[in-house]
Amino acid sequence: MRGLIELADGVHQLAVTAGVNCWVLRDEHGVTLIDTGLARKGLIPKLGRLGIAPGDVTRVLLTHAHPDHAGGIAGLIRAGADPTIEVGEDDLPIVRGEQDQPTSDASTWSGRLFNRVPPPGPFGAPVVHPNATALRPGDHLPFAGGIEVVATPGHTPGHLAFHLTAHGLVIGGDVLFNLFSLRPSPAFLCWRIAPNHTSMTRIADLAPRTLALAHGRAVTDDVAGRLRQVAADTA
Ligand SMILES: [Zn+2]
Repeated sequence: MRGLIELADGVHQLAVTAGVNCWVLRDEHGVTLIDTGLARKGLIPKLGRLGIAPGDVTRVLLTHAHPDHAGGIAGLIRAGADPTIEVGEDDLPIVRGEQDQPTSDASTWSGRLFNRVPPPGPFGAPVVHPNATALRPGDHLPFAGGIEVVATPGHTPGHLAFHLTAHGLVIGGDVLFNLFSLRPSPAFLCWRIAPNHTSMTRIADLAPRTLALAHGRAVTDDVAGRLRQVAADTA
């Protein structure tokens, strides 16, 4: 099915819109979404193709608070979902509407420019869910055979990766993009470039069989080696 890939038993990657992925985990605990895409209409019909109604979604985990990851929650709630919403503790004030999105690393010209330009359309929409709660690095969640919560700051202060240990799968959010080639998150989209670089090697240390990313194709061949190469090339 177009825009829908089964990464592991019970774990689907879903292209919410072109170039923006989220993940659907189904098990005895119900339906967990990791990220939700932009505040656009793509998510609910695509969940429907998996036989999932909005009200079936019991939990949303966020890799980070950017609107192309957290923006789909509001539409789910309007359609009848009442999920718990969990995000890294350093991104939590943004999701709760208590803080603006973080500015980009000002050490590059692109970051300085990006900080002066208001984000377009749904990328500028605030994400406000006052009941969201914090995930902490090292947390273990019982879904999809067990998820380890891994600190991967840099793209945002509280960015997290989710290590689905039973499947050898890491959901890496925006630590890297794989749109044309495998690259670190673009500098102008990074809160801080240096810790994002460390986060790449942290994922490499997990040696996953598969690395799924929000923007671009999943990496399935020699993940650790390729990440170490990207880290060396961009050091
Ligand atoms: Zn992002």
